[in-house]
Amino acid sequence: MDIKQRIDELRTLLHHYNNQYYNNDASEISDFEFDALLQELIDLEIKNPQFYDENSPTQRVGGNITKNFNTVVHEFRMYSLDNSYSLEELQDWEKRMEKLLGESVSFVCELKYDGASISITYEDGKLVQAVTRGDGMQGDEVTHNIRTIKTVPLTVTGNHPKSFCIRGEIMLSKHNFLALNEERKKQNLELYANPRNTASGSLKLQDSAETAKRNLDCFLYQMVGNDLPYQSQWEMLEATRQLGFHVPNHTKLCTSLDEVLAFIDFWEHEKKNLPYEIDGIVIKVNSFSQQQELGYTAKSPRWAMAYKYKAEQVETQLISIDYQVGRTGAITPVANLKPISLGGTIVKRASLHNSDIINKLDVRLQDWVYVEKGGEIIPKIVGVNEDRREHDSTKTEFIQNCPECGTELIRREGEAQHFCPNEESCTPQVVGKLEHFVSRKAMDMESIGGETALLLYKSGLVHHYADFYDLKFEDIVLLDRIGEKSAHNIIDAIEKSKEIPFERVLFALGIRHVGETVAKKLAKHFKNINNLQKATTEELLEVEDIGDKIAITLHEFFSKEKNLESIQKLQIAGVQLQVAESTQPTRNILQGKTFLFTGKLQLFTRDFAEKTVEDNGGKNSSAVSKNLNYLVVGENAGSKLAKAQKIDSIQIIDEQQFLELIQ
Ligand code: AMP
Ligand code: ZN
Repeated sequence: MDIKQRIDELRTLLHHYNNQYYNNDASEISDFEFDALLQELIDLEIKNPQFYDENSPTQRVGGNITKNFNTVVHEFRMYSLDNSYSLEELQDWEKRMEKLLGESVSFVCELKYDGASISITYEDGKLVQAVTRGDGMQGDEVTHNIRTIKTVPLTVTGNHPKSFCIRGEIMLSKHNFLALNEERKKQNLELYANPRNTASGSLKLQDSAETAKRNLDCFLYQMVGNDLPYQSQWEMLEATRQLGFHVPNHTKLCTSLDEVLAFIDFWEHEKKNLPYEIDGIVIKVNSFSQQQELGYTAKSPRWAMAYKYKAEQVETQLISIDYQVGRTGAITPVANLKPISLGGTIVKRASLHNSDIINKLDVRLQDWVYVEKGGEIIPKIVGVNEDRREHDSTKTEFIQNCPECGTELIRREGEAQHFCPNEESCTPQVVGKLEHFVSRKAMDMESIGGETALLLYKSGLVHHYADFYDLKFEDIVLLDRIGEKSAHNIIDAIEKSKEIPFERVLFALGIRHVGETVAKKLAKHFKNINNLQKATTEELLEVEDIGDKIAITLHEFFSKEKNLESIQKLQIAGVQLQVAESTQPTRNILQGKTFLFTGKLQLFTRDFAEKTVEDNGGKNSSAVSKNLNYLVVGENAGSKLAKAQKIDSIQIIDEQQFLELIQ
């Protein structure tokens, strides 16, 4: 058999087993055999790059890097849903429709999956593009990341429309969400608030290999396209399921509103047992001809309605308020509650966020408070039962001094939180900053985890992050709990951290509001720490996404003697305080322009072309959108050219013209 045949065969087999496993719960072969086939395919593809296929099962593991997500206009708009909260509202809705139609309607009930909406386009059975909902008119292209989701077929076979979009919700299960947060806790990273935001954030990760690790799922509920061969929602769901898409089974065809209500009641109690979160029920008119007749309002279909469950609420007593001090000195008040069961878990604490929230709620010690679990993991206090308030209760006074170090708290204009300004010797701040400095996304000193950082601090060896670079083997090997081997590892890790790129060093410094993304932008713009230190407010504001808040904290940071001293120490130690030369574009003649190459190129390869764009300060795009400046067309250009011709602002040029541009 020739190589191409074997590659095709392996791809077909692996697609089939994948689909059986993830969508039909059937394991036809062992994991071992599956991995062997996959490895064979990986090896063949590496040796024969001419047979590369973006929809090969090997692409599931990800590894594509997307720097900027292109904006793509939805060919079929993605609508919202109207909400209802009561039986009466549903009855009114039914009456309105029956009046318009002059006949009765049947419904399909589905769960309202609480994730991130997605639209995936298939041409000739192949996945070609995946776009987030965005504002419903246009969204971000996240194709590489969607390809890593195992329940999304990369190719579909059997009887399917030539071209269609499939709509659904990208989901992260409750279990995977908790596991992910557990992992982040270990790495000292900020925890995610809820599965929905996390799913949506996972789609926008730049490295698709990271997305692959999140174990996302995709639940489908709709197909759109021209001349689809289905007559009803129910038939379409069934056909979509047959094609290998993950269409959840918790759906029901109802001929009356009574049946719809039974479905709603059932899931109100059952939803806590689902492995993923739902935020209601979606009720749709089953018949497509009726749907068509009903049409759309400005933002939603008239033939569908969401039914939202009221968040479960319990009443319990507020015992005390703790004030926690974070790494940046921010004070967070946390309520200790009399333990109570809510939505399947026992709740003991609730965040009170800041003093404004405390004042607005007017919560007082010993008050009976209403607690709700919204989309967030940490429950919140939504109100106070004033009838049960003790008559001698007094208004809650926010603390004025830091509970850790006693320093008087400050509150900056325009900020909701109070701060302890004692950066230098307030323990949770000092230790928090050290922990942050060594963490994986910062200086990545794995052998100095949070615990070792604390130990080094307590032993008086490290007080500020720059002190790490003074550490000597002899000093640390004498410490309790540190053997010779770990002492070596610590010294190695410190040595290695000197290669960490500037943008991460900047993030590691732990300047308030300077997270990973901001650090990247600042590093790219200012190139080295000296330029950044000298930058005026106006110069800082010129950088994309940098606002007043960040400008102020940067100035504050650089105005402190201690920080300047530490930076000097880092510099002497050889830590990267400037961007590496090679990553800077050589010229900027294509600055701010985006390019897309389509068709078969004759004068140069696509790799060369894309690199040339980047080297000259331009950006590459992978799809046609309003943001594209140039479409460079080779031979036999197809749908991209057609699409670009409809958008006036795009200049369509050939290869020769491209070369002239960069001359
Ligand atoms: P909303 O964002 O509240 O307007 O609700 C509309 C969103 O609900 C859509 O964008 C979908 O992503 C989502 N959704 C979740 N489950 C379903 C479903 N079964 N049918 C339709 N939309 C759904
Ligand atoms: Zn303090």
